[in-house]
Amino acid sequence: MNQRGVTVWFTGLSGSGKTTITQAVAEKLRARQHQFEILDGDIVRQNLTKGLGFSKEDRDENIRRVGFVAHLLTRNGVIVLVSAISPYREIREEVRQRIGNFVEVYVNAPLDVCEQRDVKGLYQKARAGEIAKFTGIDDPYEAPLNPEIECLTGQETLEESVAKVLSKLESLDYLPTTAMLKDS
Ligand code: ADP
Repeated sequence: MNQRGVTVWFTGLSGSGKTTITQAVAEKLRARQHQFEILDGDIVRQNLTKGLGFSKEDRDENIRRVGFVAHLLTRNGVIVLVSAISPYREIREEVRQRIGNFVEVYVNAPLDVCEQRDVKGLYQKARAGEIAKFTGIDDPYEAPLNPEIECLTGQETLEESVAKVLSKLESLDYLPTTAMLKDS
């Protein structure tokens, strides 16, 4: 299949829904027989960027390495789904410039919603002082200024969030439209 590579970069607070949306988008891509790869922040930190911490320098280095791999895959025609808090705007912009075919998804849920979900129990630990430098609690999160897509997961369903991502990828010509799929 002739496919244009693209990096779809999901950024947002812990618990905002990055992994959930990424997995659901991946299901859709699989069903449409697209070549894709997932770079999930938690998994990346156990492998590619093992040993890095959560200082600004280490967070930036984490994102730089993820961006490097995403670039290699993207230029070989793969749809790369990156799911990483990636709290700093400047490094996200650096990665965007390097990759070129880059679509930023701001997975936006209010802190209190993320904290209520507390999917991994990390907010509770951060509030108890057991984890330092936790994004949103005692470490910054710089929201994207002009993301291609914004998923408001505190108020929209997962299906709505997924549909936003797919239709944007279609309108940017990274995916054929579903109408075209039906024709072929
Ligand atoms: P992150 O990867 O950003 O840390 P997760 O995907 O692990 O976040 O967790 C997000 C949680 O929010 C999940 O429990 C998910 O079911 C829930 N959720 C509720 N609404 C949405 C939505 N519209 N999109 C994504 N996740 C949602």
